[in-house]
Amino acid sequence: MSIRVRLTVLYVSLLAAVLFIFGATFFGILNYSLYQQIDQTLQARAEQVVRGIASENRSFAQVLRTGNIRLPDLDLFSPALDASRSILIQVNDAEGAVIDKSRNFGRFTLPPLSDERLDLVEQGQEFFEDQTVEGVRLRVFIKPLPINQQVIGFLQVAQPVATVERVLSWVLLALFGGTILALLITALLGVMVARFSLRPIERITETANQIVSAEDLDQRLPVSKKNDEVDRLSRTINSMLARLDNFFQAQVRLSADVSHELRTPLTIIRGNVDLIRNCDESEQERSETLNAIDSAMDRMARIVSDLLLLSQADAGMSLTMHPLELELLILDVYQQGQALAKGVSLHLGHTEPAAGFGDADRLKQLLINLIDNGIKHTPIGGSVTISLYKEADWIRISVADTGAGISPEALPHIFDRFYRAKGLNRKGSGLGLAIAKWIAEAHAGTLTAESKIGNGSTFVLRLPLKTEKYPLPPESTPIRTVLKM
Ligand code: ADP
Repeated sequence: MSIRVRLTVLYVSLLAAVLFIFGATFFGILNYSLYQQIDQTLQARAEQVVRGIASENRSFAQVLRTGNIRLPDLDLFSPALDASRSILIQVNDAEGAVIDKSRNFGRFTLPPLSDERLDLVEQGQEFFEDQTVEGVRLRVFIKPLPINQQVIGFLQVAQPVATVERVLSWVLLALFGGTILALLITALLGVMVARFSLRPIERITETANQIVSAEDLDQRLPVSKKNDEVDRLSRTINSMLARLDNFFQAQVRLSADVSHELRTPLTIIRGNVDLIRNCDESEQERSETLNAIDSAMDRMARIVSDLLLLSQADAGMSLTMHPLELELLILDVYQQGQALAKGVSLHLGHTEPAAGFGDADRLKQLLINLIDNGIKHTPIGGSVTISLYKEADWIRISVADTGAGISPEALPHIFDRFYRAKGLNRKGSGLGLAIAKWIAEAHAGTLTAESKIGNGSTFVLRLPLKTEKYPLPPESTPIRTVLKM
């Protein structure tokens, strides 16, 4: 069931409940007050008749003696101008036999009272009764006529209830008809209002469908300035679309880059294999060809292992965090780096004791990467210096080279995956700095670069000094971190 139908059913049911309660209360009150009015009229008329009887029979002793009661002209008390409103009066003796009745009865009389009712009369109780005479429904008031505490008869004063019944049935019909009409109008308006209020949601659905069918994540949902629920929904969907767009673009870029990067070494390998197969090469040529294949395979292996590391990082790789003495870690990296420094001198600059916290293997990988880059991009005779400083909140480790430097256009992109600056040494995979940055951020640290063409480059790793800044509690707890795209 659509929201529109559900809302309409809800409105209509609520209104139906309200109208029913209102109608039932109104009808109940009207019914009660109309009958109450009849009852009061009947009582008042009975009083008048009793007073009339009293004035006609001045001496009750005489009535008792003769057993005769003189009655006034009952028709005086029962105006018969309107038959439906006329009041019928009947006087009975104590046994229920009719003594006199008003003329508007015609040839009819009121049906005799049941024995129980006669008992009540005998006890001097007055009461109301509903009776039907010749198909005419009557409200009857029964009033005993006591003389000296002896009931000598009783009075029946009746009025047809046809008018009241007609009024009540008209009111009932009007209430019923009015309720049905009101419900129909509400249902109609409810459908229109629900359609009108849900139109923005439909527009969102349409646009979202267009985006899905056109596979165009560039499109965005329209956002008005009302800042209502629909706007907030549109904004949320838009930011989700933006993230999906980024993600898909990154995926597309990544697969394009990966295939492009792997194609070069594969082409080299294929060309060299063909060379070995088809030509009679000398021993030295063969060994050169094999060396070329070897280094192409090396490059492929490096790219694949870097990619594997990055995809593990994307999937939320675990780091094993330990308390570390970072000055010892720097020393270790410095010694390992010596093996890479061909023609470039690697120096150990300022260091001081610095207790930190991290994954030693990953931090070494980061620093070796920086040293390797520094050596790669520094001409023979240049130098690379690694230093450690303890600052107020951070441990700052810098790797500075005296190499070619990085152009201002290239600098913002060097941490992107597969980015390699043009015209320089293009042997690398372009993944090293992306991995280094991820490692730094996984340690709640930062990795930045400063460089000027011709003046060398300085890469600065900052790690938090205080352990509470680290993402997870200390002591060898593996932490999961996800690389942000
Ligand atoms: P690669 O494996 O190609 O070295 P990186 O991600 O480590 O990939 O580096 C990306 C690019 O940044 C390099 O291609 C290079 O252009 C530039 N770069 C990195 N380190 C230095 C440096 N010390 N001096 C000059 N350029 C550098």
